[in-house]
Amino acid sequence: MGRRLRVAVVGSGPAGLFCAQILTEDTEHDVAVDVFERLPTPFGLVRYGVAPDHQKIKSIVAQLAEVFDSHRVRFLGNVSVGADVTLDELRAHYDAVVLASGAPLDRPLGVPGEDLTGVLAARNFVSWYSGHPDASFDTAVLAAERALVVGVGNVALDVARMLVRTPEELRRTDVPEHVVEALAGHAVREVLVVGRRGPQFAKFTNKELLELAEVESADLVVAPEDLTLSETEQARVAAQPAAKRLLASLQKIADREPRGRDRRIRLLFDRTPVAFLGDTTVTAARLARTSDPTVVEQVDAGLVLPAVGYRSTPLQGAPFDDAAGTIPHRDSRVLDRDGHLSGLYVVGWAKRGPSGVIGTNRLCASETAASVLADAATLPDPGRTPAAIDALLASRGVPVVDWTRWQLIEAAEARLGADRGRERVKLHDRADMLTAAGVRTSAGS
Ligand SMILES: Cc1cc2nc3c(=O)[nH]c(=O)nc-3n(C[C@H](O)[C@H](O)[C@H](O)COP(=O)(O)OP(=O)(O)OC[C@H]3O[C@@H](n4cnc5c(N)ncnc54)[C@H](O)[C@@H]3O)c2cc1C
Repeated sequence: MGRRLRVAVVGSGPAGLFCAQILTEDTEHDVAVDVFERLPTPFGLVRYGVAPDHQKIKSIVAQLAEVFDSHRVRFLGNVSVGADVTLDELRAHYDAVVLASGAPLDRPLGVPGEDLTGVLAARNFVSWYSGHPDASFDTAVLAAERALVVGVGNVALDVARMLVRTPEELRRTDVPEHVVEALAGHAVREVLVVGRRGPQFAKFTNKELLELAEVESADLVVAPEDLTLSETEQARVAAQPAAKRLLASLQKIADREPRGRDRRIRLLFDRTPVAFLGDTTVTAARLARTSDPTVVEQVDAGLVLPAVGYRSTPLQGAPFDDAAGTIPHRDSRVLDRDGHLSGLYVVGWAKRGPSGVIGTNRLCASETAASVLADAATLPDPGRTPAAIDALLASRGVPVVDWTRWQLIEAAEARLGADRGRERVKLHDRADMLTAAGVRTSAGS
C-alpha cells in the first residue's frame, strides 16, 4: 500500500457515493474521500427526483449513507464547486477529483409556444414536490383542468401519478406540507400522457404502468385503437419480451371498464406536439399523428409538463460536450482537446447522460474507481492537504454542513413529521435546513 490517496468527489448522488464507497473499500490502496455537495442535503436525485410515493426505492439512502460510517469519507454539504471553491482549487488539494454532478438541466422540446406560462419542464414540478430548495414552481398553473405530460418514460408516469394522488396518500410520504395543500386543492381532472411513437416504444416499465393502473383516485384509460400494430411491428414485439409484456398490460387496461373516478389519466401514443397555443399562458396544444402528420388534433390544456429528459451543465473549469450534454471522457478520465486531464474523472449522469436507474450508477462508479486506482501510482502528490481546503472554506465564510450536521436536518424533519402525525416531513427552505444544521441562527446570521 503506497501513500494515502486523497480524492474529492463533486456531488453526493448515487454515482458519487457509490464511487466513494468502492474507492475506500479497495484493499490494495489507502484512499480517503471528501464528498462535496452544493446542497445541505445528500443523495441527489434519490432525494429530489425519485417519486415520494416510491419509498421502497428511496430506502436505498440507508445503504448509500453507510459510506459515511467510514472515518475515511467526509461529507462537505452546502459547498458549491465552481462558486464556493473552484475546481482548480480542488485539483490543487487532492490527488484526484471525480465529477459526479449529475444532469440538472432540462432538455428542450423545440416546439413553438414552449415559452408560454404553464409550459414547464417536468423537472420543475418534480423539484417542487420533492422539496428541492431551489425549486421554482408557480402553483397558479394547478388551476388548469387538464394537464398534458409530454413523454412516455417513468418520469412522465411519476408526474401523472403525483397529479392525481389524494392528500391522504401524499401525507403517507415525506412531501412538504405546502405541496400536500396545493395538490389537495388543485383543479386538474384529466392528465394526458403523450408519446411520440407507438406503444411498443414506450419507455416506462411494466411495473410503473401497473402501479399507475392501480392508483385508487383516478381511472387509467388507453384507447384500444392506439394499440393496433402492423404485422411487422407485431412480429418485432413478439421477439422482445419486455415490449410484449408492456403491450399485454396496455391491452388489459384498454379492455377495462372505467371505475368512474373523478380524475382520469389517458395514455396517448403516436402523437407529436407541434405547437402550444395561448396569448401569454398556454390554453391548448396541437398534436399531430406521428405516422401521418396531416392528421392534427387540438386539445385544451392549461398545464404542459414536458418530461423528455435531463441534461448536464458545464462545471466551471471542466470541459463540456455541448451536443451530448455530458462531460467528455475516455474510460472515465475527463478529456479536453489535448487529451485527458491528469487526476480528473467523471461518473454517473454527468458522464453517461440521464439514463439508467440508481443501480446503473454502481457499475458506472466501479469503472470510474478502477481508472482512478489504475492511475494511483502516477498521480502527482498535490502537496497541499484537504485540511487546507477546510481552512479555505472557513476563510470564505462558507457554512459547511458535515455528516453530523446533516443528521440534525434529518432529525428536524422527523420532528416536523411527528408534529403533523406523519412519519417525516421534508424541510424545503435552505435557510431552515441551515438553521436545523446549526450553521445558521434563525435570525439569519
Ligand atoms: C424524476 C426522476 C425520477 C427517478 N426515479 C427513479 C426511480 O424510481 N428508480 C431509479 O432507480 N432511478 C430513478 N431515477 C434515476 C436516478 O435518480 C439517477 O440514475 C441517479 O440519481 C443519477 O445519479 P448521479 O449521482 O449521476 O446524479 P444526481 O443524483 O443528480 O446527483 C448529482 C449531485 O451533484 C450535486 N451537484 C451538482 N453540481 C454540483 C456542484 N457544482 N458542486 C457540488 N455538488 C454539485 C447535485 O446537487 C446532486 O446532489 C429518477 C430520475 C429522475 C430525474
